[in-house]
Amino acid sequence: MMLLPRSDSIHPNFNQDLQRFLFGREYQIDELPFPEDMIRQHVRKGLIALRRGVEAVDDGLFSLLLGSRRWVCRRCGNSDPGLFGSCACGRCRKSCVYCRRCLNMGVVRSCTELATWVGPEPVRQPVTPGGNGGLCEWTGTLSGEQAAAAAELVRCLNEGHSFLIWAVTGSGKTELMFPAIEYALLRGERVVLTTPRTDVVRELFPRMKASFPSVPVSALYAGSEDRIPDAPLVISTTHQLIRFHRCFDRVFIDEVDAFPFHFDPMLEYAVQKAAKEGAPFAYLSATPPPRLKNAYLRGDLKGTKIARRFHGHPLPVPLFCWAGNWKKSVAQGFLPPAMLKWIKGKMEAGIQIFLFVPSVSLLRELTELLQREALDHVAGVHAEDPDRHVKVTLFREGRIRILVTTTILERGVTVPAVEAAVFGADDPVFDERALVQIAGRVGRSPEYPAGDVVFFHNGRTLEMVRARRHIEQMNEEGGF
Ligand SMILES: [Zn+2]
Ligand SMILES: [Zn+2]
Repeated sequence: MMLLPRSDSIHPNFNQDLQRFLFGREYQIDELPFPEDMIRQHVRKGLIALRRGVEAVDDGLFSLLLGSRRWVCRRCGNSDPGLFGSCACGRCRKSCVYCRRCLNMGVVRSCTELATWVGPEPVRQPVTPGGNGGLCEWTGTLSGEQAAAAAELVRCLNEGHSFLIWAVTGSGKTELMFPAIEYALLRGERVVLTTPRTDVVRELFPRMKASFPSVPVSALYAGSEDRIPDAPLVISTTHQLIRFHRCFDRVFIDEVDAFPFHFDPMLEYAVQKAAKEGAPFAYLSATPPPRLKNAYLRGDLKGTKIARRFHGHPLPVPLFCWAGNWKKSVAQGFLPPAMLKWIKGKMEAGIQIFLFVPSVSLLRELTELLQREALDHVAGVHAEDPDRHVKVTLFREGRIRILVTTTILERGVTVPAVEAAVFGADDPVFDERALVQIAGRVGRSPEYPAGDVVFFHNGRTLEMVRARRHIEQMNEEGGF
């Protein structure tokens, strides 16, 4: 056995600020707030590894035959030949290849060096358990079904297996993760909870902070101000994970199927890269994408299904209502009578409404038409709307009564007594998953467990029928 010096006699032969900054992350050398010669010294000592930002991969005979090389961007995983450009490089004075897919984060070229920390891990911030010996101070209780799923999640992740929680909208998925998150944090692990949607991060962050008051929690989304370097618990949009590299011991992905995750390979690459090798993943979704769903059904992915909402009431089943040629109505400046009648009825009953529309242009026209009908407190919100967060807050507070929205609010935003309608449910943007999520906005609180979900359409589509069948099937499985 080798004799090791006592740990307190070791003088770290590296800069601890640099270690803390770079551990679990990957940056271009010139992006780092440290002098280049300091970085090079650490490279020579084997504490920092460098790799090319854009690298040629050897396809052997294939590339010989074609006479051209295939490129891969190490930051975003891009390998699509159409998404690389070349330029006369001002830095290396040669012709350099650069990645166009992640260009909005600053250019990565074939001469770029990406640096990551490969030396010893920084000492983890100790987390101090509270009086109950734990970290989680959420005072609610899990239902029997939730508690069983939560326990299985803890067990599977500890065994190093990934796990799918396929739970209906409003089943209390977030709370279900608490035991597994607490367990990992108590072991000193780094945990990330990621979701593709900024709105979901903004909704989750205060809940996680309140539930884990003694744990530093970092929130990462474009423009976020609650960034704590080195926080053991990180709540992040999937997009923001692209700077991470082999950082997290456990990864929780909420709303795994949410746009644009299920067709954006860059985000998938970002999550894989942010996880340590072999780290188990927990996937949470009401509408898992086919790849996960099939893996679970085949038995290749462990998981559990929760078909009941936490308050024990069934999911509201969507109603189909024919609204005629809705595009034409709006173009001619009037609202389909069936819809207007429904909306007026809800306003008189004091009910708030989410009104989903297929496009931003329609959103503007419809909002204006509703305002012209002298309906009170109508607002429209879409992804690029600068007042988006303000409007969502006003809607939560009940000061906006009708919120017209594109599919950006199909999930994550919870308002107690709200009912929902889709205007133009036959439009192709409303696939089964989107429609199930929209229906899931309604009846979430125990005080208001039911409510209307109406699909106004001009001819029912297969997706509408599938969404309704999906909900009915879940209700059946839930014993209703
Ligand atoms: Zn790239
Ligand atoms: Zn260059």
